[in-house]
Amino acid sequence: MPTGAKLLLEKIRELPLPDKVRIMNVCGGHERSISMAGLRTALPANIELIPGPGCPVCICPEEDIYQAIQIAINEEVVLLAFGDMLRVPVNVPKAAIRTLEQAKAAGADIRPIASPTEAVKIASANPEKTVVFFVAGFETTCAPVAAMLAEGIPDNLLLLMSGRLTWPAVAMLLDSDTPAFDALIAPGHVATIMGSEEWRFVVDQHHIPTAIAGFTTESLLAAIYSVLRQLIEHKIFLDNCYTQVVTAKGNNTARKLLHSTLDIVDAPWRGIGIIPQSGLELTAKFAAHNARYRFPVYADEARKKAGTMPPGCDCAKVVLGKIKPNECRLYGESCVPRNPVGPCMVSDEGACRIWWASGIKNGLPTKSMKVPD
Ligand code: SF4
Repeated sequence: MPTGAKLLLEKIRELPLPDKVRIMNVCGGHERSISMAGLRTALPANIELIPGPGCPVCICPEEDIYQAIQIAINEEVVLLAFGDMLRVPVNVPKAAIRTLEQAKAAGADIRPIASPTEAVKIASANPEKTVVFFVAGFETTCAPVAAMLAEGIPDNLLLLMSGRLTWPAVAMLLDSDTPAFDALIAPGHVATIMGSEEWRFVVDQHHIPTAIAGFTTESLLAAIYSVLRQLIEHKIFLDNCYTQVVTAKGNNTARKLLHSTLDIVDAPWRGIGIIPQSGLELTAKFAAHNARYRFPVYADEARKKAGTMPPGCDCAKVVLGKIKPNECRLYGESCVPRNPVGPCMVSDEGACRIWWASGIKNGLPTKSMKVPD
């Protein structure tokens, strides 16, 4: 395997590539690295890099965000959420409160946090208050939450869980009639926790070239080179291009904590629907800390039907790799980071926001790659 971004790029350019190769990444961090490095412009034009379902804020069900907003407005609580989530709009009339940020401005006690440790600190410092931690995230977010639960949390700390596993979304795409990709770059951070073997099904069951990548240009190019060679040579295998931190079985301690504190359940993904065995919910042992049992269900069945994307927003198609962000007709028009229409323009891991921030306007990518030696 060649090393160095420049050499890898040369090797990729020398490959006898097919007319079109679609490579999906499943991690907002990968998409950010790819876009910010200008990789799309550096690679041969017949290689298409497709952002996939790697943004937890983007796929968080609208009804969960609505529920969090309503709890914050209607109950005597402090509501904690990761910062990105505060700006995600729900589908309500313009005059109504549409985001946690607006609920905060209207007087609700909503506090952005960056880690579960902060949630424990705030709950411990305010024993007279009920503190609700709205947890939306993938394995990388849920593992520290599992550790927090296993250590023991204050009685007054409740969790509104909206945790998700990444691999079932990829399995769903592969089981569909038209998966939008020929090769897969699997997520490095998730594989650090869950192990590279979790992605073996892509190779064994679907014969799709797969490589785990880290977040440097070099690691991403190594993964791209690997899957291209696998395709060309018809030798499909699971490659690990992030051996510095990813092992076959992952982090045993983190996996045990996840299994002992969170159940795997069928779960809705925003704009996509229910994906079997893709959600993480508190086990019965933590029922007393489950915010879903403590408060009324504000998001009724009618709400759940409304819980798709806002009118005109194509986030679901973007998340599934069916269209590129700049193929949404609202991209850069009515939808920009300072005034986002859909969740993909809110989160730092959302493909629309990443593309916009990296200078991709309504046409082709504009950012050119500066290849390090
Ligand atoms: Fe949704 Fe905005 Fe992205 Fe269009 S550009 S898919 S409206 S987030």
